[in-house]
Amino acid sequence: MKYTADEKRYDNMKYRKCGNSGLYLPVISLGLWQNFGEETPLDIQKKKLFKAFDLGITHFDLANNYGRPKDGSAEENFGRILKSDLRSYRDEMIISTKAGYDMWAGPYGNGGSRKYLMASLDQSLKRMGLEYVDIFYHHRPDPDTPLEESMTALADIVKQGKVLYVGISNYKAEETEQAVKILNELKVPCLINQIRYNMFERWAEEKLFEVLENSGTGCMCYSPLAQGALTNRYINNKDIPDDSRAAKTGTTIEERYLDEEKLLKVKKLNEIAEERGQSMAQMALAWVLRRKEVTSVLIGASRSEQIEDNVKTIQNLEFLEDEIVKIEDILK
Ligand code: NDP
Repeated sequence: MKYTADEKRYDNMKYRKCGNSGLYLPVISLGLWQNFGEETPLDIQKKKLFKAFDLGITHFDLANNYGRPKDGSAEENFGRILKSDLRSYRDEMIISTKAGYDMWAGPYGNGGSRKYLMASLDQSLKRMGLEYVDIFYHHRPDPDTPLEESMTALADIVKQGKVLYVGISNYKAEETEQAVKILNELKVPCLINQIRYNMFERWAEEKLFEVLENSGTGCMCYSPLAQGALTNRYINNKDIPDDSRAAKTGTTIEERYLDEEKLLKVKKLNEIAEERGQSMAQMALAWVLRRKEVTSVLIGASRSEQIEDNVKTIQNLEFLEDEIVKIEDILK
């Protein structure tokens, strides 16, 4: 049966302005990096996308290389579902994709050259069956390409009508300042920087948040749950659950986040979450959203129940001073 979106989808979600732009993004966005490739049946993918959209999540984040085992399979699957069920909602959706990492063989399938960025965007549009994407990101700074070249390519694809807004991802403070300056000169402002920020990874607090705030650039925080480590997924089990990200091959969660020290911290943090009447995941998301510089948290999900749990975060985004102090104490 064809999907019909919930009429009440905009009743509860909160939306924040993305930097100085006119674009509102939901405080919770959904990423398709994991669990949307060939390994995940299409009906499960549909269930998650429909659940998200029904709950007011309007923003879906992809990249050229998302999807396992085949790079690009997440865009292909997303394109299939768009075509079969979501086409009539296209104007209610913000779809992003990126290029920057390894995608195809040879010298033009990686990096930040004009050749790579333009060719990759065309491939992404084809895979998704779209005429344009809402946001196109340079996925990572490329020290081997002049920044002017990458940024001019971004500005030009906006002028070609293939992209509405452009962004950068994984750019540090100084790189961001330079990219913003060049894009401003080209009259195509930098909408957003997509970065890793969560309770365990806080480098953005040193300088980047200030740069984003001062330049009116939005901030999309990916892996806000530390790929699942900042949830109750691993603290209540002796062994790694079979259906979890950590049990899959080719993921970085274990080396990054699943050591004893961090798990002990999550256990303690979970006690504060319980006192707040929240799940651990909800508190971790609210904690990221406490920063005024943050536009949205970009979550992943292996099942639709996780999306429901995470969206309930918006019922309590406030922290008492005392809670912040206790959290800092655990994290230090
Ligand atoms: P998260 O930190 O949100 O981790 C998602 C994982 O956490 C899920 O797969 C699930 O794990 C677990 N989870 C989610 N909600 C819950 C819950 N309520 N209770 C228990 N467990 C939960 O984000 P990701 O690391 O997946 O990244 C999100 C998105 O960010 C990506 O899809 C991508 O769009 C973007 N991204 C961008 C990068 C960049 O370089 N720009 C890099 C990485 C990500 P499980 O699968 O075990 O159930």
